[in-house]
Formats: sequence, C-alpha cells, structure tokens
Amino acid sequence: MDKRLTHILPKVQKPARYTGGEYNQVIKSKADVDLRMALCFPDTYEIGMSNLGIKILYGITNEMEGVWCERVFAPWGDMENEMRKSHIPLWALESGDPLSEFDIIGFSLGYEMAYTNVLNMLDLAGIPIHSSERTELLPIVFAGGTSCCNPEPMADFFDLMAIGEGEDMNRELLLLLREAKRGGWAKAEFLSKAAEIGGIYVPSFYEPFYNSDGTLSELRVKDGAPELVTKRIVEDFDNSYFPTSPVVPSTEIVHDRVTLELFRGCIRGCRFCQAGYAYRPVRSRSVDKLEEQGIASLENTGYQEITLSSLSTSDYRPLGRLCDGLLDYCVPRSIGLSLPSLRADNFSIELMGKVQQVRKSGLTFAPEAGTQRLRDAINKNVSEEDLLNTCRIAFEGGWSNVKLYFMLGLPTETDEDVLGIADLAMKVLALWKQHASNKSRGVRITVSTSCFVPKPHTPFQWEAQVDMDEYRRRVSLLRSHLRAKAITYNWHDADTSLIEAVLSRGDRRIGAVIEEVWRSGGKLDSWSEYFSFDRWISAFEKCGLDPKFYACRERNIDELLPWSRVSMGVKPEFMWNERQKCYRAELSPDCRKKCTACGALSLMSGGRCDE
Ligand code: SF4
Repeated sequence: MDKRLTHILPKVQKPARYTGGEYNQVIKSKADVDLRMALCFPDTYEIGMSNLGIKILYGITNEMEGVWCERVFAPWGDMENEMRKSHIPLWALESGDPLSEFDIIGFSLGYEMAYTNVLNMLDLAGIPIHSSERTELLPIVFAGGTSCCNPEPMADFFDLMAIGEGEDMNRELLLLLREAKRGGWAKAEFLSKAAEIGGIYVPSFYEPFYNSDGTLSELRVKDGAPELVTKRIVEDFDNSYFPTSPVVPSTEIVHDRVTLELFRGCIRGCRFCQAGYAYRPVRSRSVDKLEEQGIASLENTGYQEITLSSLSTSDYRPLGRLCDGLLDYCVPRSIGLSLPSLRADNFSIELMGKVQQVRKSGLTFAPEAGTQRLRDAINKNVSEEDLLNTCRIAFEGGWSNVKLYFMLGLPTETDEDVLGIADLAMKVLALWKQHASNKSRGVRITVSTSCFVPKPHTPFQWEAQVDMDEYRRRVSLLRSHLRAKAITYNWHDADTSLIEAVLSRGDRRIGAVIEEVWRSGGKLDSWSEYFSFDRWISAFEKCGLDPKFYACRERNIDELLPWSRVSMGVKPEFMWNERQKCYRAELSPDCRKKCTACGALSLMSGGRCDE
C-alpha cells in the first residue's frame, strides 16, 4: 500500500474500506503468477463486499493456477479528494498495487446508476477511459453482470463484455489472455479470438447506425463477429463453484452474513422483472450441497447470520428440509437464519416460526400492484386473498411489522389501481386489529413504492415509462389516501428512476452523456448525497439528446432495439406475446404448472429446466 496513505487514512471516513488485510483474503507471491486480474466493483466497499457475484468470481479466479485476482472498490468522495491531491492512483486491496500493473481489469455491472463510477475508477487509475484509446494488449478492460444485457450505453469504455454467468467465461478469457501475453499478440487479435468465446460481446465489432427519427437503423456486424451473442449459463449449478471461505470484512457492510444461493432463475415470469428472465432457466442446488456449503461458510468466517438467497426463496421445494438441517447447526450456536422477501402465496407460518427461533424480524411481501387486475396484467400470480390470509396468519403468530412493496407507473395502471394500494394496506391494518395475538407494541405497516423502470429482455421492454410529473401525481394521490398512523409510506424519487430508465434502454450515444456527467463531477450516482439530476439533464442537452426519447417513448415491435445483438435465451416473440397478455390482464402459468416455451430450455444441453 502506498506509504503516503498512512497520513491520509486517519482523515477519511471508514478507513478500513481501503486497507485490505481482511480474514480470508487471498495473497499470492508475484513470482508464482503470470496473470493479474483486478476485480472492480463500481461502488463503495460496503456494497461491493455484500455482492455474491464478486465473492464467486474472486474465489473461482484465485483457484486458477498462476492467476492472482484482487479486489478494487470505488473510493468515497473524501478519499478520492485525498488521492487526487496526492496523485495516488487507485490500488487493489490485496497487494496495494496500482491498477496500471494489472493485465486485466473486470468490472461487475449490476446497476446502471454505478456507470459513472467505472469512468471515475479508470481515471483514478490513470487508465484511458475509452477502449479506442487503449491500443496496447494490456490492460484489457471488460465488464460482466446483469446490466451488460444491454451493452450499448457503456460500449465505448469496455474492450469486451461478458453476457450471462461469469464462472466459465471468466476462466476462458483468462486462459486466452495468457496465450495472448505469451504469444505477444496485438489487442485486435486477442479481441477477435475473444469474440469466439460464447457470451463475449466485443462492442468495437458492432457499429450502430441511426434513422432520422433517432431510432436505431442498424447494428452492423464487423470482423466476423457473431450475429447474436447468447448469454452463458452454468448448467450443472448443483456442482458449480461456491465460495465457502469468503473474505470477512474489517468494517461493517450492508449484508454482513453468509449468503447461500439456492437456485438461479425463477419459475414465475413476472413481466417487469429482468432478473427473472435474465437468469432462466431455473437451476437448483440440492439440500445436502447447501447444508454443506452453509456450515463450511459459517465455520470459515465466524458469521452469526446466514441467509437463503434466490429470486424467490419460498419456491425452493425442499425449503423446510433445508431450514431444519441448517437450524440444527445454527440454533445451538445462536446463529440467525434469515429468509429474504417471501411470496404471499406460499408463505408458511411453521417455517417462519422455525426460522425466527434465534432472531425475530419483520415480514416483507412484494404484491407490486394494488388491484387483482393489475397484478394479473404484470403476471404476479398473487391474489388479494393470498396476501390477506398470510398477514392474518402472521398477526395471529405474533408478528407486528409488515413491509409491502409496490411499483407505480406499471403498464395499464389506472388511478383505481393506485388507490388499490391504499385499500390493501387498510385491509391489512384491519386484519391486525381483528387477529393480532400480541397488541402490546402496536403494528407497523410500511408501504413502499418505486417507479416502474422498463427493462431490456422483459415483456415490458417496449413500454414507455410514465413521465415524472405523472409519477408524482400518483404518489400524492396514494399519500392522500394513506392516512392511518400505523401505516408509513415511503416512495422513491422520480429523478433517479428516469435516469435509470435511460441508461437501461439507451443506445451507444448515451456513452457521451455518461462521460459528460462524469467530466462535470458526476459519480456515486446511487447515493442521494452525490446524485445530481440537473447535471444529467445538462449533459443530455450538451449531447443533443432527449432523455424522454429513451425513457418515456413506447417502441413498436419493428423497432431495432440497442440490445438486439444479445440473447438472454428467452425468445423475443415470447416476450411480445406476454406483453399482449398484459393488455388483456391475462395470466401465464408458472413453469411448475406448465412450460410456456419461453426459449430458455435451448440453453440446457440436458433439455430440462429443473423447476
Ligand atoms: S423453457 Fe419452460 S420451464 Fe423452462 S424457463 Fe422457459 S417457460 Fe419455464
């Protein structure tokens, strides 16, 4: 670590973010490695260290012979100022070495509002931000993660982007880079070979052309690159890598616990949910594997809490058996077992009772929409009866803290649907008054609404986002009908949601806007103390682009979408059909009831989705 930091660390917030030296970090001798990878998370330490994807890639890459993978996080503003003042380049936590000494720099892109941090981190490392400026083979700068399913907004800044699950792709890329390094290849040669690896998107091999109305007319393929880049998945998920010795942070992080990954994908098909489609088909881990991984992780970290993660944990068939197995180990050691948000249609009081033996926490449900019509239109497949029944059981069971998540601005939403949210919350309150077994502490019902953001690779990818004034009108309509003291109402601001919608469905011209925002001081945009809506708006003006063209404009079926050279396995015609069903408020069965032939099955050589 740069010696000058010893004088700086005492001056900044949470200095442990920058020191490394944590329990279970991987240190290798440079003499034993011929490839060095910097694994970058474009946000702060406490967010990045909670990310399971980072733990998996860090562990699996460091298992490779001769490869050393080190962690890098975005510095908070106070540390960045000190670094710029003292000309200290961004460094990796394990060795303390600047990023310019690494062969390959990988960014995990899971959230659009972190885009400006990528540019800021490259700049702090003294590495040119544009791929076209980096003419030498090393360092290769690439990205992976869910947001790459629309690679175009960040295309100018990355040499390549990994679409889908990284476990195998990352390995194949590193082996190719080793060959390139040993062979003295030029960057172009490496990129054209990399484009042959399944799931790899090389932006410079696709050239965008536009119509006079601003829509995309063509994304021309060059240099023999694939017409369509199909995402990679880990097919044999049960036997895939899981990090049982994750790095234990030296300072508090957002999710400070062991996180077990039960399965990938989701059987449900909620029409707004990008992750639900992006991670299809469903692939699960067995109870035995999970118990083994859970106990090993707890033993290797000393954590006092373990959580069972997936997109819909209550859909994991043997959940009860898994909890029993883990609780046998956890309860005697006072280790808490937590379940993330549960679906209201398969909630079990017995399960909750078991899980909350050590620590009792609130209940969280996401009905998403206030009326049955709209829940059917978005294919949420949860009835009002499910939700109220579950709350009644919970109140009889002594729970008094319920969080309900909704979205505003969903396709086909009316004021009646907005008011439906208030009705539902009032009905939950009435249930508490009627059925609560423990009224001692009163009840807390928290209603939260976020603004719907249409996402690529979902049935709603063609939808217009409601404009901000309309979103705010719906927020105040709901507020005016949520008057009970026991009900708290929180809502997301519209500004961030508009920018997120632009970055989600933008084309390559949005890269110039992101750069302009960064050059005018933009960074850490997922933090309210740093996000500036005006800065984004003036950047759009400077680049001659209208954010509403990207966010609030409906696309028709013939329009060429910026992500059209990427397939996440689900067929576009399936998506369009699901969108039509939304307008008829028609449900689709979940994968367990009936396969609706979404196309994801084609990714499985075994020809079966284990739903
Ligand atoms: S192929 Fe069928 S079972 Fe598999 S994810 Fe798609 S709809 Fe579900």
